[in-house]
Amino acid sequence: MTMWGDLLLINNSQVGGKLTDLARIQSPRINSGNFPDFIRIKMAPTENTDTGHIEELNGLANAELARRSLRVSFIFIPVTLLVAKVTGLHQSAPKVVLAYLVMFLIFGLLRTIHTRDFEKRHKKNPDAWLRQYVFLTIGPALALGASIPLVYMHKGAGWDLIVCMMSLTGISAGATASLSARFKIFRLFQVIVLGPSIITLAFFASGKEQALSFLVILFLAQVMVLGRYFHKEFWSGLINQHELKIRAKSLEEANIKAQQAVKIKGEFLANMSHEIRTPLNGIIGLTDLVLESELNEQQHDYLSDVKISGETLLTIINEILDFSKIEAGGIVIEKRPFSLSRVLDKTIRPLRFSAESKANTLVVELDNNLPRKLKGDSHRLWQILTNLAGNAVKFTENGTITVKASLEGRSGDVCSVRLDVKDTGIGISKAAQETIFDAFSQADGSTTRNYGGTGLGLAISKKLVELMGGELVLNSEENKGSTFSFILEMKEVSEAKSQKIPKTKKNLTPQLSGLNILLVEDNSVNAKLATRLLNKSDIQVEWVTDGSQAVEAFQKNSYDIVLMDVQMPVMDGFEATQNIRKYEKGTGKQTPIIALTAHALDGYRELCLEKGMDDYLTKPLNPKILRETLSIWVPVEKNQVEPQSV
Ligand code: ADP
Repeated sequence: MTMWGDLLLINNSQVGGKLTDLARIQSPRINSGNFPDFIRIKMAPTENTDTGHIEELNGLANAELARRSLRVSFIFIPVTLLVAKVTGLHQSAPKVVLAYLVMFLIFGLLRTIHTRDFEKRHKKNPDAWLRQYVFLTIGPALALGASIPLVYMHKGAGWDLIVCMMSLTGISAGATASLSARFKIFRLFQVIVLGPSIITLAFFASGKEQALSFLVILFLAQVMVLGRYFHKEFWSGLINQHELKIRAKSLEEANIKAQQAVKIKGEFLANMSHEIRTPLNGIIGLTDLVLESELNEQQHDYLSDVKISGETLLTIINEILDFSKIEAGGIVIEKRPFSLSRVLDKTIRPLRFSAESKANTLVVELDNNLPRKLKGDSHRLWQILTNLAGNAVKFTENGTITVKASLEGRSGDVCSVRLDVKDTGIGISKAAQETIFDAFSQADGSTTRNYGGTGLGLAISKKLVELMGGELVLNSEENKGSTFSFILEMKEVSEAKSQKIPKTKKNLTPQLSGLNILLVEDNSVNAKLATRLLNKSDIQVEWVTDGSQAVEAFQKNSYDIVLMDVQMPVMDGFEATQNIRKYEKGTGKQTPIIALTAHALDGYRELCLEKGMDDYLTKPLNPKILRETLSIWVPVEKNQVEPQSV
């Protein structure tokens, strides 16, 4: 059933008795259940066929009626004055002319108030507003219509009568514009204004004057046709406009829903990655431990493959997570002081072994003109360079891979730093270059088989470079090699500024043995792994499985450091940290709490610090990073200059 078909029915049902007729006047004639013939619905009606929309449409039509009427509220006054002057009626019948003027003034004032206050009055009671509007429109119409019999009786058929009739036909023509929003009001108005002229001329006049009545009938018929046409146009426009509004609204809602879905997808991926990383942490870490024990060659080989597979899986998870986060606009680029040479070193070091095994030479070129410290996102830069250099090693044999950083230019303390990753490997064909930066895209179908990979690395790198304000450009020739380049603008950090005061006193070779650590971890495999790693450094570990047990243990015993998992049942790591900090308030002590989490999200470190933790470690636990981090937080009284061997 149609929305517009219901328009009339609902309107009718809202009013009773005589008002029913009035209400019918408000809307186009519609056969119940069908679209009105004249309304060209240019778009399919939406599903929003509730009465609210019909009321809204009627409201819009009434508003337009009010707007148009307001402009001609006092039009009858100058017309009356002119007619009186031309016909001399102001002298022969001054009282009648005055009565007309006073009446038109009163009606004009009332109509002005009524239409100007439309919003308020109509909102209060739309039916009452329309009823009053009809009264204020039909009142003057009756007076206008009655003017013809009055003039005829007073002066007979002649010049005066013709002048009056001319002004009435003018008024009638003008009403096609001002009243066409409501056809029945318009029709009633026309009949009341012109009807008395037709009757007077047809029944009381004679001869030529009688024939005039036919002209008025013709005129009446013409304005009716025109009025109906304007009425149709008005309603089709109104309905189409309303449909557009509804569609725009539903599009907006759909857009909000889509954005929410993307957010939910991002959160889902983050949670999933957390869930997958946790057991992976166990697999990789424990494999590492077993690899260090007595094994025969075959066992060592098998386990090495298990470790490589685990690490590959971890890379894929990280890439998928990163990509979906970039897609959802969830990556924030940090701006912190960092050393470019360190980032290059961190990029190249892990690649040395695989480069050598493929008889490749790895070269790092660092321009001496580059400042020692720059401000930017070192982690993301490392991620981009690692991906590009990793690919360069992967696709090159017996060649050279060069990672180069140079100063392209500078303006004040802003440096344009150019980074190139060049190889002399297999190169990329022109056709593949077109799609190489798309997600999940590889040069050809055999790439995964021969070299592995997901085809996400370049897509992520390109987006990350763009987020940092640069553009990743590729120059490649098949069988000759490839160069990936980008330029980033980064601020130089003066040496004085870059020297930060450490939070606690640090020692370069702190004593880890003898430390007493509270390990809060719900996953038993991860707990076992962390305990083993810590025990290897002669660290005592007390293990609890959730936040509330941690708070309890903390109140009973004293610990040097707390390693706190974040996502745990019963009480999570954040709440536990806050409770521990509350408990410590009176004691004047602050035990270092290090977050231990599989969440590798941007801003998560900051969140941990915000929640009262002191540092942040991601799983899978890297033994070296674990040792380094712990050594930062060794209590001053336990610091002894003694080299560590873990
Ligand atoms: P992945 O390496 O995981 O497949 P990437 O997005 O990093 O995904 O790379 C996409 C594809 O681009 C690779 O599969 C490879 O076909 C091609 N490619 C990238 N870097 C190089 C390179 N240095 N030399 C040759 N081909 C490359």
